[in-house]
Amino acid sequence: MDYSNKRAIDLHIHSTASDGTYSPKEILALAKRLNLAAIAITDHDTINGSKEAIVAGIPPDLRLLTGVEISAAPPSSFFCSGSFHILGYSFRLDDPLLNQTLSKLQLARENRNPKIVRLLNNLGMNISIQEVLELAGDGQTGRPHIARLMLEKGFVESIDEAFDKYLGKGKPAYVDKYRIESGKVIEIIIGAGGIPVLAHPALIEISNGGKFEELIVKLKEMGLKGIEAYYPEHSKEQVSYYLRLAKKHKLLITGGTDFHGSLKPDVNMGSGRGDFHVPYYLYEDLIKDF
Ligand code: AMP
Ligand code: ZN
Ligand code: FE
Ligand code: FE
Repeated sequence: MDYSNKRAIDLHIHSTASDGTYSPKEILALAKRLNLAAIAITDHDTINGSKEAIVAGIPPDLRLLTGVEISAAPPSSFFCSGSFHILGYSFRLDDPLLNQTLSKLQLARENRNPKIVRLLNNLGMNISIQEVLELAGDGQTGRPHIARLMLEKGFVESIDEAFDKYLGKGKPAYVDKYRIESGKVIEIIIGAGGIPVLAHPALIEISNGGKFEELIVKLKEMGLKGIEAYYPEHSKEQVSYYLRLAKKHKLLITGGTDFHGSLKPDVNMGSGRGDFHVPYYLYEDLIKDF
């Protein structure tokens, strides 16, 4: 099998175990159809997607890294208005502390979702938590499922509108999420034998004037091992900047599309909005020392 750099990898994929619309089995089939060389299923705060993929069976010419995307609290001197997410790769799925930590995050979500629904009810929208849970199925439930229900019921005309008007940070139905300190998240991923990577740095938005490079230095001190330089929403200039920073601070480079199936219909697995490509050698660099 040709694992040359012509074959792409995609190390940022969501499944039905969180808010993606493809099951892990369907993701494997699609990755194979797209001739991807390696993938990781990186669901929000759950590793059930990776577990299911392994049970389903990995096609022989496709590599799978175990994956997760954890919503973390940034280091204390940084205020971030965007999405501060830490990806974990190639960890042991049965690590007790990792599993305990993720259970705690699930529980926090179970408490948060009804609060969001109540705020929407107060805004005149007739939505129940049962309907939300039904729509989410077996997977972990979050705002995207609530947004889909709002769309189905005609309260909004798009998922984006649901977030922009109601569910987004600072909007009337926003409820803050319980987050674990980034240092702790990094420690737990490393403790499980994994590789912690800062997700989609351009989406972080440091709001108190802190410098991104200072954030990277701080996270590296905490044990961070890589930066997700390749991401569909990153401009060419941003990608070059992150590549430079990774080199300067001796961090690994990763990339992925953040594929969510029909939740983000314009983002395709492996190729993003069409012109996106993460080369295979980054996968080899990532697993070299593991
Ligand atoms: P939650 O995990 O419940 O906080 O929801 C966060 C998730 O919602 C993100 O990871 C995205 O997948 C999704 N999301 C956030 N903003 C939008 C948006 N404008 N349109 C669609 N999905 C979004
Ligand atoms: Zn998501
Ligand atoms: Fe993310
Ligand atoms: Fe993601």
